[in-house]
Amino acid sequence: PVAGPAGAGGRAEKVEALLLTFTDLTPQRRVEQMRVDFIANASHELRTPLASLSGFIETLQGPARNDATARERFLKIMAEQARRMSRLIDDLLSLSRIELNAHLRPQGRVDLTAVVGHVREALAPLGAERQMEIVFAHPEAPVTVQGDRDELIRVFENLVENALKYGASGGRVDITLSREGEDALVAVRDYGPGIAPEHVPRLTERFYRVDTAHSREQGGTGLGLAIVKHIVARHRGRLGIDSTPGEGSTFSVRLAALPAETSKLDVKTMA
Ligand code: ADP
Repeated sequence: PVAGPAGAGGRAEKVEALLLTFTDLTPQRRVEQMRVDFIANASHELRTPLASLSGFIETLQGPARNDATARERFLKIMAEQARRMSRLIDDLLSLSRIELNAHLRPQGRVDLTAVVGHVREALAPLGAERQMEIVFAHPEAPVTVQGDRDELIRVFENLVENALKYGASGGRVDITLSREGEDALVAVRDYGPGIAPEHVPRLTERFYRVDTAHSREQGGTGLGLAIVKHIVARHRGRLGIDSTPGEGSTFSVRLAALPAETSKLDVKTMA
């Protein structure tokens, strides 16, 4: 058959359709690849402490069976490895729960001043351990947002904990809560070594760490900022990371503020 204009057109359409399929497939493949990578990473992260546990069990069953000092020491390490596995599983479960509810905007009314104050108090012992002062500056009137209290606590706990873990050389962490127009802004600033610019865009990827050994030493799972990112997104907020090597880092969360509630006192004053 002679290929007339119609035939040529048909071929062109087919090619176009194929191209469309390819371009359509690419993001899908990327998602699939990310899923595969995630499972591989998670398995690896779990296998490392598990291998260590198996090793110690064998040693305790064999060569160290009658060595009380070694037994004590090994049991301590084993307990820490078990804690690490449990932290990792908790973080993995949190992440999947948050992702599952990604489309549902949390409905509660949350007092950010109280939430950040709570986080500061909860982390004061860790700060003291590291000789770090946590300073919290906020406006007198409460700043409220629409959200989930526990999830927002999680966000600020992660950010302040990171500031204490990775910015310890700085001696202090500043948390500032402010209102900027319609927004509520919480900034967590440390004066530690900071983060080189090439790492900054990747910090919220699951299991991405600048220094894996250091993160593990600090009890990190590599999932903290991924969790933060997902929670902030679910709250329709924005996470900002600003860091200068040698000077420190600022992690900030911007959320839509709720208008201040008219309190009974205000009504009386107005009357
Ligand atoms: P981790 O469990 O390792 O702390 P995160 O997701 O919370 O995981 O953080 C990812 C990485 O980002 C950390 O391993 C660390 O390298 C880097 N990081 C996070 N916060 C800071 C900070 N305040 N200063 C310097 N580096 C930081």
